[in-house]
Amino acid sequence: MDDLSRFCCLNPDCPEHGKRGAGNLSVTSRYCPDKARRMLRCRCCKARFSERKGTPLFGSHLPAEKAVSVLHHIAEGSGVRKTGRLVGVSRETVARYSRKAGRHARGLHDELVAVSPPYP
Ligand SMILES: [Zn+2]
Repeated sequence: MDDLSRFCCLNPDCPEHGKRGAGNLSVTSRYCPDKARRMLRCRCCKARFSERKGTPLFGSHLPAEKAVSVLHHIAEGSGVRKTGRLVGVSRETVARYSRKAGRHARGLHDELVAVSPPYP
């Protein structure tokens, strides 16, 4: 049984939109050459989407290990050119993944830190 508690429906028109672990998702198929990625379906609105949709790795052409390595280097403070040389990708690729990860991090921050703590 797949653990889908970290996922939620991504259809903004669905009543279950954004509710993690609501039990409305199921795995309909697996894709990519090694069948490691799951296609998810919402029982409520019937939407289907990749488990990677909404993540910095969605639509990635780099192997996952290399994409994660790019983001690790950036998170540790390596510059775009240095990261590109170390990982073996172009600086444009590093910049593109950085922007995608930044947008994702902003959305996650806004979800997890919805309310600032009150001043004492
Ligand atoms: Zn839905």
